[in-house]
Amino acid sequence: MSSSDEQFAIGIDIGATKIASVLLSETGNVIRSSQLPTLVEEGKAAILDKVAEQILELAQQAPGALAGTGIGSPGKVDAARGVVYNAVNLGWEEVPLTEEIAGRIKRSLPIWVQKDANLSALGEQYFGAGRGLRDFVYLGIGSGLGAGLISDGRLITGSDWYAADVGHLSVDPEGSLCVCGGRGCAETIASGPGLVRATQQMLANSPTNTLLSNGVELTPTDILAAARQNDGLALKALTEVGRVLGIIMSACTVILNPSRIVVGGGLGLAGYDFIIPPARQELMRRTIPESRALLEILPSQVESPAIGAASLVWYMRSKETLKN
Ligand SMILES: [Zn+2]
Repeated sequence: MSSSDEQFAIGIDIGATKIASVLLSETGNVIRSSQLPTLVEEGKAAILDKVAEQILELAQQAPGALAGTGIGSPGKVDAARGVVYNAVNLGWEEVPLTEEIAGRIKRSLPIWVQKDANLSALGEQYFGAGRGLRDFVYLGIGSGLGAGLISDGRLITGSDWYAADVGHLSVDPEGSLCVCGGRGCAETIASGPGLVRATQQMLANSPTNTLLSNGVELTPTDILAAARQNDGLALKALTEVGRVLGIIMSACTVILNPSRIVVGGGLGLAGYDFIIPPARQELMRRTIPESRALLEILPSQVESPAIGAASLVWYMRSKETLKN
């Protein structure tokens, strides 16, 4: 096959700290990739300019035809209209992302947008731990808890783009206040900040026999380092993260009957060996064997969220092919 037969996609993930970009071939080869600091404080227009510049730069590098661009954003993403709402970490209330980017790149190139966690699921489905699967769940544990659901090969987005918002399913309606205004949301425990909070609470209650101390500013990295040294309190806090994750896995399992749950995100990967055994145990306690007969739990395999964003191009194209 000559290089001109293969098509290429651009993927951009707009995160609160960095904008990751990739030029990807249909077979998943990374032709070019880059990362820029988002610098939220510089404002919306500066971020949009940066995204457009990345697209134009990568478009020039494409060794063959470009099929389109996929862009991932946090917040509520209306993928039909291309509008992002309430991306709190970016300081965006309502941004017509597709329109803003199309106006900046001034060339005919299809642009699709989607919620970041949904794109992580697509990335795993095309090029990672969900390859070839029709029914699987992606769970990302990082600054929050996000999910992407694939059922019968399709991404589930819901009636108002809020499907898979598992981070804000409360596991304790009397629990800690969440950023959303609710109480005891899963991500108040099953996330990086949640792990820190759980550890701090345990330290306040029983500060003995631990390497950790409440006096300094704790990070998930400190807690994981202590857990690797068999620190009882760190292990207990990570077990609590796993327990809550297991409740969410149970909800996903009874509704979707997935054959795989792929766990990613910074804490999901770095803490995998500590979090997954208690999560699995909780899943066993809460579900019947029939609903998880085929279920496997695996770590994510896609390295950059930009690859998930580029996968949106192949996904949208396959949907169009199905229609014709
Ligand atoms: Zn919440």
